[in-house]
Amino acid sequence: MSESRVSDPGRTLFTRILQIAALNAFAVAQPVFDRLGSNPEYLRLEDFSGIAIGTSLLLFLLAIPVATLIVMAILKSVKCPKSADLVFATVGMILVAVSLNIVFRWLQWRFEWRRVGIPDIALFFAGFSLALGCGWMYRRWQWPGQILNVAAIGIILFPLSLLSLSAMQAEILGITPKSSSTTHAKNPVPVVIVAFDGLCGMSLLNERHEIDAVRYPSFARLAGKSTFYRNATTVHSRTTQAMPAILTGQLPDMSKLSPVESNHPNNLFRLIYDTNQYDMTVFEPVTRLSPKELRQLDQTLSFTEQVWQLSGTLTRVYLNTSMPTEFECLQPEIPLSWYGIVEETILQERPSRGLVAYSWDAEHGLQVAHFVRCLQKTEKPGFHFLHVVIPHDPWSHLPSGKDYSVNSRIFEHAVGTTGEIGEYWADDELFVKQGWQRYLLQLQYADRCLGKIIDQLESTDEFERSLMIVVADHGMAFIPSQERRKPVSENLPDLMSVPLFIKLPGQAAGEITDRNVETIDVLPTIADVLQMQLPSIVDGASLVDQNTKERPRKSMYCDGSEVMVINPDFPQRFSYVDRMLATFGSGSQDDRLWSLDTIPELVGRQLTEFKSGDPSPWKCNLEHGGGDLTPRWPNFVPSYFTGHLTGPKISQPVQIAIAVNGRIGGTTRTSTNSDMSGSMGALLREEVFAERPNVVQLFEVERFGDTFVLHKMSFTSLDFTVRSDSSSASDDP
Ligand SMILES: [Zn+2]
Repeated sequence: MSESRVSDPGRTLFTRILQIAALNAFAVAQPVFDRLGSNPEYLRLEDFSGIAIGTSLLLFLLAIPVATLIVMAILKSVKCPKSADLVFATVGMILVAVSLNIVFRWLQWRFEWRRVGIPDIALFFAGFSLALGCGWMYRRWQWPGQILNVAAIGIILFPLSLLSLSAMQAEILGITPKSSSTTHAKNPVPVVIVAFDGLCGMSLLNERHEIDAVRYPSFARLAGKSTFYRNATTVHSRTTQAMPAILTGQLPDMSKLSPVESNHPNNLFRLIYDTNQYDMTVFEPVTRLSPKELRQLDQTLSFTEQVWQLSGTLTRVYLNTSMPTEFECLQPEIPLSWYGIVEETILQERPSRGLVAYSWDAEHGLQVAHFVRCLQKTEKPGFHFLHVVIPHDPWSHLPSGKDYSVNSRIFEHAVGTTGEIGEYWADDELFVKQGWQRYLLQLQYADRCLGKIIDQLESTDEFERSLMIVVADHGMAFIPSQERRKPVSENLPDLMSVPLFIKLPGQAAGEITDRNVETIDVLPTIADVLQMQLPSIVDGASLVDQNTKERPRKSMYCDGSEVMVINPDFPQRFSYVDRMLATFGSGSQDDRLWSLDTIPELVGRQLTEFKSGDPSPWKCNLEHGGGDLTPRWPNFVPSYFTGHLTGPKISQPVQIAIAVNGRIGGTTRTSTNSDMSGSMGALLREEVFAERPNVVQLFEVERFGDTFVLHKMSFTSLDFTVRSDSSSASDDP
């Protein structure tokens, strides 16, 4: 009834558009700004211009209100005010529904509503129903419109809030951190730094708590010529916080979560760059701390292309993260570059000086080979920095340099893990051990890479006179029913311990010390050796300064603002080594790295030795292995198998034998965890596979006392394709 409607004088076209703009600011612009503000690394990676970023942000702020204004103005001018009202009401109610949905999703996350069975889709429809109610109230009363008029302040406040972030000031306004131009190194010796990722220092040790020289000959070789800080620990278990701690000497600051230069202006790269005394080569695949000036590749996209690309990515991120999970099939895919993964187009040129761009999750062989090539004598002393994301997962490398999982990228979680991003180990110990085995094999591959680097330094006579530092950002935990990456008291030895080797210029003899050292001590030590004044006070201390007192504690920062303070000699420090030796032995007579077969007595035997029973009632859907088992390129060996059994309900784990070319190559079983019932995984030795096409057969194994019966199991496999860039085959480090 017309009497119940608010009359229109206060609601001119201008105020209505202002109200749409206010709703749009809450429903669209702020969520987009929030996501961009938390990921400035993406802007650094893509190197968009400030004006392109600003234009894209304005589009999110104004596109919907302006389009609505134009349509309403046209409809009014052709005397269709009712249609104009309908457009206003429709756009307004959709924006209200989206805003409510965002609030609901936050409440759902905060109070874990999903656990009590409230699905996303219910909240989605609740949002729309409430929006209809809001529409009715808007027509009935004046005050909802007045609230919207006040809320229009968001149009100004949200962009200002984004611009208050120093990272955004750097990217949009070009306000870069002040350069400390006085930096000068009085002793500019060559510097080589290798930072491995996810390498627990304890995993390198044998029963004598020395470097296991059989499994890790290159680390042992380095230990023989450097100081090995056996009690070195990290201060954070995430790369984005742990790497900046190494490069700034500062403890993590939870108000500066993004690892970009503007958040860490006095980082090692900037300090070295500003000396103007070094030729720098920086491989920085995850963090973006190196000065913009080191970037060698010019932006190739035009302004319009940049706006198109950035707006497109942000729209996809917005839709992907705002839509109910039930609409997963409709969610657009987010470009990999949003996650810091470099697309092939950026990789076309690979300079040998300055910043070198690589993706963190693949092509490690290529990266290390490239780094080795860069280790040449230069006119100025060299500063060579390599951050290489091994032995961190995805695990795909064997010690020989061969790969068993060519397509394994970040989205594939290790078998036996749970949680949205595989953040926990489930309770099946075998699966945890299988992950640990793959990790230790990849660590042997990391050792091989280190060996190539030391070889090159020795061949160019740079080793002796260089300051060489080998470190890792954090460890990795392998404990059933525990967090993989988040520190809790049980996994501290796994996560905190990192290797730290410092070879001073001219140092020839090795030394092991149990001094309490943290990764924040790396930067002040470098400054001390180079005799370089630091522009500000740091939390770490030089390890070569005899006057430095040993720190009486260790700190471990957690996600959020929680800090664990730990006794430097924390009692369970070597428990990682004890657990590892109990499972895998060491590189000695007792080497049990390949000991995870569930029925070891079958391995290596011919199929003809066994009685075959009826076909197994289960079928295996393989995700790895079993497809085209012809090694298509020399570096690939199809020795990794994962899959899921379908068929009758599994009451107890099914024992499985995998035969290759008529001989049993490995045995495994399905998970004991009821949530993963039917899942299986196994890594076979590479020697089992021939160069020619391999014939794989799967069997369910039934045991009768000492005899075994094999039941042939049918299987399907994903037709996986080898990544088009197979060049790492020839660039194996
Ligand atoms: Zn890391």
